[in-house]
Amino acid sequence: MKIEAIDLFYVALTKITRTADGTQDSLVVRVRTDNGLEGWGECDASPLVSLTAYVMPMSHSNIINIREALLGETLDSPEDVVRLRNKAGEYGLDIQQLDHAVAGADIAMWDVLGKHLGEPVWKLIGHDASYKKLPYASVLFGDDPAETRAIADSIVEREFRAAKFGWGPMGRGSLADDIALVQAARDGLGPDAKLMVDAGVIWGDDVDAAYERAVAFADIGVTWLEEPLRTEEIGAYKALSDRVRANDINIGVAGGEGADYFRAADDMMTNAGLDFVQIDVGRIGGITEAKRVADKAHELGIQYVNHTFKSHLSVAASIHVFAGYEEFDLTEYPAGDSALILGLTAPTGIFRDTDGLVRASDKPGLGVEVNLAAINEFQRQVKIEIDGEILFESSQP
Ligand SMILES: [Mg+2]
Repeated sequence: MKIEAIDLFYVALTKITRTADGTQDSLVVRVRTDNGLEGWGECDASPLVSLTAYVMPMSHSNIINIREALLGETLDSPEDVVRLRNKAGEYGLDIQQLDHAVAGADIAMWDVLGKHLGEPVWKLIGHDASYKKLPYASVLFGDDPAETRAIADSIVEREFRAAKFGWGPMGRGSLADDIALVQAARDGLGPDAKLMVDAGVIWGDDVDAAYERAVAFADIGVTWLEEPLRTEEIGAYKALSDRVRANDINIGVAGGEGADYFRAADDMMTNAGLDFVQIDVGRIGGITEAKRVADKAHELGIQYVNHTFKSHLSVAASIHVFAGYEEFDLTEYPAGDSALILGLTAPTGIFRDTDGLVRASDKPGLGVEVNLAAINEFQRQVKIEIDGEILFESSQP
């Protein structure tokens, strides 16, 4: 089949706030083929910047937009997806947003290819099985311990057995303030649920500050301390994880969502001493690149976990990536209440089974359906025009 169209939908809530909440907007990408099939993908980056990478005018041989690279191309096999992903990378060699932007098309190409061949994506990318994963409810800390406790209570009511709290006031007050927040989450979840903490890069390169929290949070039974430091502070990460291990502190060090391309993730896995590498399929360049990271993590004995704070389209794409690795048994599961994100797939894409576990679907493609009514409801009307020529105009899905 041939790629006939690439459609771009910039969707957003009416009111965008300054919380660290990635479920407020999105760029959704649809790839349509000449045999009447369509596949869907989603990017986790600034939607309009990513959209532009699909339509902007050529600057020179290494700045050519993604649409130009993909339209009219043949898509019949997994090798074709990889070839086209690489072609987009060559056309956009000097586009810094390339990996973020092409992620949506890459995911959509895997989806449409799966529908074409009648196979789930996890099989097409080389897995033999789709193992169950424990979803952890992923939420932001409340503004104080009481609010955090209430959020934890709501997670228990929704029968999650694991949760991650992040950002918000974490690291903005004293050590005692941070401990009170994590303790409130633990009190709400109870002693048995898995609890993870996401520090949202708040300590920058300050290993001492991160280590103090690691020690304190280990006492509260926290599975991992996520992004205590900025992604690029590889040396500081290594110093932190060495210290945690040398002193037998029972907590993992997690990071990697800031890895914007495979090489950055590889650097973190090789040099930062991570226990958990967290990859966003919508940032790192799609399923193709994320799978390379999962394979490498498997080789190195580091646990791969998805980073996902978008719709269930992204949750589904993320789980296919590491479906066949039984030891990678945790999955991030956005548990906020964004109407945009909850509505984007219909019905909600990845259901928890009676044991509360999830797995990548056996249906052809990603196995989730996009809700066109939600695209219509939340779409921002965009028109990009240069010298009277319209490069892009939002259209109905
Ligand atoms: Mg995070």
